Amino acid sequence: MITQPTKLRPGTILLLVGLLVGGMNTATASPVAEAEAIFLDFLDADSAVGVIDSGVVAQYRGRDRAAWEAELRDRHVALMERLAAIDPATLPSEDAAAIAAMRVTLADHADPSAAVESAPEAPKCRDASRRDLDYAELRAALVGCYRELGNNLQFENGTVDRGTALQLLHDIEEPARRKALFDAFRPLWLALNGQNESDSPYRRMIRMAAADGAANGSELDAAGRAIGVPKAEIEQWLVQILDAWRQASGPGMVEPWDYRYSIGEANRLLAAQIPRDALVPVNERFYRDLGADLIQLGVVYDLTERPDKSPLAYTDFLARGRYVNGEWRPSVARVVGRYPLGGLFSLNELVHENGHAVHISAIRNRPAFTDWPDSLFTEAFADVPSWSVYEPAWQWRYLGTEVNEPTSLRALHGNVVLDVAWSLFEIRMLRDPVGDPNAVWTEITSHYLHIVPHPDVPWWAMRVQLASRPGYMLNYGLGAVLTAEIREKTSESLGPFDAGNAAWYAWVSEHLLAYGSERDTRSLMQALLGRPLSPDAVLTQIQRIKGSKGIKGDATL
Ligand SMILES: [Zn+2]
Repeated sequence: MITQPTKLRPGTILLLVGLLVGGMNTATASPVAEAEAIFLDFLDADSAVGVIDSGVVAQYRGRDRAAWEAELRDRHVALMERLAAIDPATLPSEDAAAIAAMRVTLADHADPSAAVESAPEAPKCRDASRRDLDYAELRAALVGCYRELGNNLQFENGTVDRGTALQLLHDIEEPARRKALFDAFRPLWLALNGQNESDSPYRRMIRMAAADGAANGSELDAAGRAIGVPKAEIEQWLVQILDAWRQASGPGMVEPWDYRYSIGEANRLLAAQIPRDALVPVNERFYRDLGADLIQLGVVYDLTERPDKSPLAYTDFLARGRYVNGEWRPSVARVVGRYPLGGLFSLNELVHENGHAVHISAIRNRPAFTDWPDSLFTEAFADVPSWSVYEPAWQWRYLGTEVNEPTSLRALHGNVVLDVAWSLFEIRMLRDPVGDPNAVWTEITSHYLHIVPHPDVPWWAMRVQLASRPGYMLNYGLGAVLTAEIREKTSESLGPFDAGNAAWYAWVSEHLLAYGSERDTRSLMQALLGRPLSPDAVLTQIQRIKGSKGIKGDATL
């Protein structure tokens, strides 16, 4: 179901922007305010195209794709005209910042997004072998491989989607079945990386990514800029995190198809308590206990399976927040995912996506800033509530049972360090794009994760982001540093929140979320912590997998 956001009354917006940027004379305030009103309409049209392209509805608010696309183009032209007529140098600093923020948002919208990738004219997986594709087209073709092959992995006389397969690798008891499920990824890997020849589709794409990053700035640059920490230091943090895991997790080696099983005992112990139908209500209850009523916030869910559905879960704006008749209407979020099985892995992802949803709904700022902040902060924040599902206190309250702390935390951080491994992989590939991705991945995973080397198998190619936005994995891997810091500081300030805390949502809204795109990660984190970021909090969390009670199950890992 798609909600019907209230129709905009442009006069109200203009009046309000005038108030928000009060103190300026009308002659300078007006063009910026007009641009901001058009900006919101442009973004809402973009969201409408996005929801139609996702395949869940053919029409949105009574208009089809062509109508929304026409509106989108029209508003874009109008916005560009307004912006071109404004000289930021003549503006008060708040207005100049607003113009700059709008330009950042507009640049983001030129990037391929989940919406663009599932557009009807998007390249298909088979196009990945073509040599005439540009960088964006080749990425879109590779994302097509995830959609066409990754959504339909052949396993035991049936098909399973990639995300469900990753979950099942934690759960399946029989080693031979885990190996078979791992091997079900092979057609996807073949499409992405062929026989690992130097001009495989992925290897051509990563060279284009490095060239594009050198010319236009990369996702890695963006994450580093967001926190103001040099790339070399970030890389050192990632290595420290991986090394903490290497030391805490014990020396035994595991096969790549057994790694998730080796960390997943908590998933198996809790599987019976988390049936598929429990995911949405448990998630709702947790957020209600945190002071965020998802129903009241109007979050729209698209969780049912359909052909050609996005190969990865995501959350986006459905409608931007605005004042209507003098009353604030928060932004409305749309959550897209597929959870056919239930279980802790799916629950964690659903709570993460809803972390994005409550983030969107908490943004309350002038129109120019009604957008996501840096991807780094955005991904890190969504994990603040989602890490809670691995805490025994959370499990006790919402599932009526709990798994001991070392076993629970192993399940969480075993996946966190995989994201860190992918972050390091992308840093190294983008630094040396002619390098052999299989060799880079094997070196990282064998040393730090104790995974048996299989340099002939490109099993790194499990994440859509590697193809859709090279370098983006750093937002998860480095994001863990921020997540641990935010969780620690929030608990210090408010008391524990793993089993709910009614003050949580208002507090994080005020301190972190309300600004939208106005503030960068560095300023948010500096204000929160009163000191620069450090990896210490996440390193402390990883230590918890050692515990004092020992690890249940396979202690030799
Ligand atoms: Zn996310």
